[in-house]
Amino acid sequence: PPIPKSSYKIASIPGDGIGPEVIAAAVEILQALTKKLSTFELEFTEFDWGTERFLKTGRYTPEDYLEVLREFDAILFGSVGSPSVPDHISLWGLRLAICQPLQQYANVRPTRILPGTKSPLANCQPGDLDWVIVRENSEGEYAGQGGRSHVGCDHEVATELSIFTRTGVRRIAHFAFNVAQNRPRKMLTYVTKSNAQRNGMVMWDEVVQEVAKDYPDVSVDHMLVDAMTVRMVLNPRSLDTILATNLHADILSDLAAALAGSIGIAPTANLDPTRKNPSMFEPIHGSAFDITGLGLANPVATFWTASEMLHWLGESEAAISLMDAVEKTCAAGIVTKDLGGKAGTKQVTEAVLGEILKL
Ligand code: ATP
Ligand code: MG
Repeated sequence: PPIPKSSYKIASIPGDGIGPEVIAAAVEILQALTKKLSTFELEFTEFDWGTERFLKTGRYTPEDYLEVLREFDAILFGSVGSPSVPDHISLWGLRLAICQPLQQYANVRPTRILPGTKSPLANCQPGDLDWVIVRENSEGEYAGQGGRSHVGCDHEVATELSIFTRTGVRRIAHFAFNVAQNRPRKMLTYVTKSNAQRNGMVMWDEVVQEVAKDYPDVSVDHMLVDAMTVRMVLNPRSLDTILATNLHADILSDLAAALAGSIGIAPTANLDPTRKNPSMFEPIHGSAFDITGLGLANPVATFWTASEMLHWLGESEAAISLMDAVEKTCAAGIVTKDLGGKAGTKQVTEAVLGEILKL
């Protein structure tokens, strides 16, 4: 459990595209909230790590960035990626360069329909879709192993190796069972592709079933990832906590966000459950250059992300108050275009600020 503090140090990395717009909104909300509650403080330090820095210096971060980040209680991240740099360079240059060395092996993605918003699924009401996706965040398909030979030739060969370790699967399975155990329905669905992929995926199945024995109060079922997409669409109520690999959960959580209304509301937490390193909190959406600078970005994903950060810091009362303010704003119909509304980033932020002042 976290140690309560009177002041927490937060590293903010706004990054690229709409990242700076949504992070500025979230910092404003968090400052208003802590001022209103006056039970603890948040001390923000902003870092200009992103594509602009990369284009100037050849690096997204200074060389000692890990030591710098280790001094903080948490990291609030916007997004990274720009049309001027291939995505695999920016992703590995910043986001994965933080998550992997800081051993943020659990990526948690809560998904539900917020009041006043609509799922694209007919007859799916708030309450019918309430999931937590737990994504393995340190190995698997994104281990970065593989290579290319004879680049550009017709006989070019490229490999992309997935790395699954028993320890890696076991620790994320324990984490996911803990999440499931602490939710009312105590249900865990784990997702693999062990019919076609007969090594790593079969080990996943074995390890998860082994770990399940430690959680007899959690009901467990298994899905193949292809069938899982169908179940998410046709029977969202039958799911609660979902455990999947790095790649599978990445894809399923974009689907989940869309089914819950918009990618513009979906938060994520990259956690080091051992608490040896700071954890990182970010909206799941990317830099969205098509709407950058237009004032249209939905800040709700980043507000929800900020609430998840407060939960992780042990400030659950503040976390709940923040989500409450966000939900009241959505319920009042003050939502951005992606949710079918007319408000911009600024109006949504002001409405949430108004709700915070009413606390
Ligand atoms: P990246 O490569 O950084 O993931 P992307 O363009 O592939 O970028 P997103 O940035 O997530 O993916 O954007 C996907 C679509 O969703 C875009 O049309 C974008 O405008 C929209 N979108 C993403 N985030 C938001 C948001 N917060 N508010 C409104 N629309 C959003
Ligand atoms: Mg994307």
